[in-house]
Amino acid sequence: MPRQRKLLNIGDRYGRLVVKEHINSKIGVRTRSIFKCDCGSIVTKDNYNVKIGKILSCGCYQKESASNTGSKLKYDMIGQSYGKWKALLRVSYKNGMNTPISYLCRCECGTIRIVTAHNLRDGKSKSCGKCR
Ligand SMILES: [Zn+2]
Ligand SMILES: [Zn+2]
Repeated sequence: MPRQRKLLNIGDRYGRLVVKEHINSKIGVRTRSIFKCDCGSIVTKDNYNVKIGKILSCGCYQKESASNTGSKLKYDMIGQSYGKWKALLRVSYKNGMNTPISYLCRCECGTIRIVTAHNLRDGKSKSCGKCR
């Protein structure tokens, strides 16, 4: 291939997904980004899978074939508000030895950050901290 594999550009559209922001991950080689789907959902997806066309939506488009994993959503924090945070989706975020349940949250001011479920529930994190 003549070109280096590069990140998706913010604003690029892939299927129903538009790249909003990159998430730097130290976990692996692959990097995830935050996408906005046409249906309004905000999701994080693997850049590589999006780029090769494996993922073209937040999942609204391929609901029928979504039975490949038995994982069901039993986390009801999605869509809930905690202070100024709104939990958008659940993410795996490795923190040392642990992988606490975390959520990608959006602050009222628009800042997006990963917050652990613990901190949300306990009210330890109520906003991004920059917007008072
Ligand atoms: Zn969608
Ligand atoms: Zn804020």
